[in-house]
Amino acid sequence: MELEVREFTDTSGNFVLNKTRPVLANALRRTLISDVPRMAIEDVEFHLGPIRGEDGKEYESITPLFDEMIAHRMGLIPIPTNLELFGFREECKACKGEGCPNCTIMYALNKKGPCTVYSGDMEPVGDPTLKVSDEKIPIVKLGDGQAVLIYATAILGTGKEHAKWQSAHGVGYKFNPSISVNNKKWDGEETCIEVCPTDVFKVVKGKIVVKDEEACVFCMLCEESCGEGCVTVEKDKSKILFQFETDGALSSKETLTRALKLLEDNFSEVSSMAAKLK
Ligand SMILES: [Zn+2]
Repeated sequence: MELEVREFTDTSGNFVLNKTRPVLANALRRTLISDVPRMAIEDVEFHLGPIRGEDGKEYESITPLFDEMIAHRMGLIPIPTNLELFGFREECKACKGEGCPNCTIMYALNKKGPCTVYSGDMEPVGDPTLKVSDEKIPIVKLGDGQAVLIYATAILGTGKEHAKWQSAHGVGYKFNPSISVNNKKWDGEETCIEVCPTDVFKVVKGKIVVKDEEACVFCMLCEESCGEGCVTVEKDKSKILFQFETDGALSSKETLTRALKLLEDNFSEVSSMAAKLK
C-alpha cells in the first residue's frame, strides 16, 4: 500500500491510498473515528452561592442555562492535545488514576455578567500553553448580576467512549473513478453533460471528453445518457481517495500518524499471540 499526500492542513487531511484494498481503507477509517485519543473536558465543578467581584459587588452564581447544558457545551470544546505528554488517567502510573499533570488538564472559568462567556475565557491552571486555541466558541450568556466560577478537568479518551473524544470527523473515502467514453456510440445529444451533478464531462471538437474524472460520485446517470455504451464508469478499488477533518485538538497529520501506529501495534500484538499457539 502506498500513500500519496494531496493536502494536509491543521484541520483537514486529503490523500490517496494506492495499491490497496477496501478492507484496509475501512480499517483505517474505523481507527481514525474510534481509536485515536484526544483530550476533552470530563468533570465540571460549579461554585454555588454568591460570588464577590473585585469591585466588591456581589454576584449570584446563576446562569440562563442549566449546569448540565454548560457542562455539555464545555465537553465539546477542542482541548489542545499533546499525545507525547499526556496518557490515559486510568493507566497513569504517577497518580494511579487520581489525576495529575501527566494525565489531566485543569481549567478555571471565572466570569461576571453581563457578558458572553467564550471558550477563550477558560484559563489553564498551570501551563499557559494549554490554552484553548479556538477562542470564540460561546458557552453561555450572563445577565447583569450573574456570574460563573467553574473548575473543569480534561482527560484523554477515545471516540469509542464518547463523541467528544473523537479526533477525526467527516471521515470518508471513495474508490477511484475510471471513466471511458466511446464516441462512436454517442447519439449526438449532450445529455450526459447535463445530467452529471459534478461536471465530469465536456465537449471538445465534437467529442465527449472526461474533464474531471475524480469528481465522479458514481450516480451512473451518464451511463444511461448519450447512447448505449457511450460512457462506461468503473470503480478502481485498488486506488482509494480518502479524506477527513479534525477540530484542531490534534492536527490532521498527528491524527493519521497515530491511527496508523495503532493499527500496526494492534496487529503486531495479535501476531505475537498467534505465534505462541501450539
Ligand atoms: Zn496521572
